[in-house]
Amino acid sequence: EKLFSGFSKTRESLAVVDELLLYWNLADTDRVLDELEEALLVSDFGPRISFKIVDSLREDILAGKLKSGSEIKEALKKSVLQLLTSKGAKTELQLGYRKPAVVMIVGVNGGGKTTSLGKLARRLKNEGVKVLLAAGDTFRAAASEQLEIWAERTGSEIVVADGDKVKAASVLSQAVKKGKLEGYDVVLCDTSGRLHTNYSLMEELVACKKAVAKIIPGAPNEILLVLDGTTGLNMLPQAREFNEVVGITGLIVTKLDGSARGGCVVSVVDELGIPVKFVGVGEGVDDLQPFDAEAFVDAIFS
Ligand code: GDP
Repeated sequence: EKLFSGFSKTRESLAVVDELLLYWNLADTDRVLDELEEALLVSDFGPRISFKIVDSLREDILAGKLKSGSEIKEALKKSVLQLLTSKGAKTELQLGYRKPAVVMIVGVNGGGKTTSLGKLARRLKNEGVKVLLAAGDTFRAAASEQLEIWAERTGSEIVVADGDKVKAASVLSQAVKKGKLEGYDVVLCDTSGRLHTNYSLMEELVACKKAVAKIIPGAPNEILLVLDGTTGLNMLPQAREFNEVVGITGLIVTKLDGSARGGCVVSVVDELGIPVKFVGVGEGVDDLQPFDAEAFVDAIFS
């Protein structure tokens, strides 16, 4: 329901599709598809995906496979669903068998990293998982305090830097060692998010990754990139850059309860082949949902 109401703006801009398809006839195909492409662009699907979708519809229409407006609409939904799921990557968390599993949460400031980490802790704890939090955003003073509040809210243990100027990698390393010694199932690591164009952040993330791999071979099991769902197509270059430097294994798209436009999510998933694992649909502790591609497509197109 929250996803559905969050996408009301996207549905509004795509409502034109229904009108167009209602009166569609074969002779009108080019004009209708041009307008459909325009509607997808307005909803932030981006030029590449919009063209790809419309082109495959055109092919199917000309081949006589789609014979009515409602068939075209269904094919449109199906092709978006395919773009979201075709790369076959798992949407569930992949935590491996070595304990503790390490999950790093990365992304630019304000996107919802700390909040998502707190909500994820809650989800895992509800499933009976023993969770340890690591306050790896040592750059922003308030970040550790914010994570401590989440630790309290979710009844989780937390490791924070024991002094100024402690490096993020050292906090994560300390947390993973503690996790290993004390039999934790999962260590959830917060990280810094100063502007992604600042190269030293990327260096820091690489150092964090190496530090945890030194303790647990194969860790981190997941590096989840948090993307603010209201930032539109800006999320694409952000995702590219984080992926190139640290290798992202999954996405958390936040603020989908607000005035998000869904198209850009499809672009990121298709271009980078990284699955969305969770979506944030509010600021509350239970407002993180596993990604459901069908519900997502239904919320966009109704
Ligand atoms: P960080 O800097 O990436 O750690 O971001 P924060 O976790 O501090 O979140 C920034 C703001 O976004 C906070 O006010 C959060 O409450 C808010 N926020 C995070 N996720 C969501 C979401 O899914 N929906 C809404 N409406 N707000 C969110």
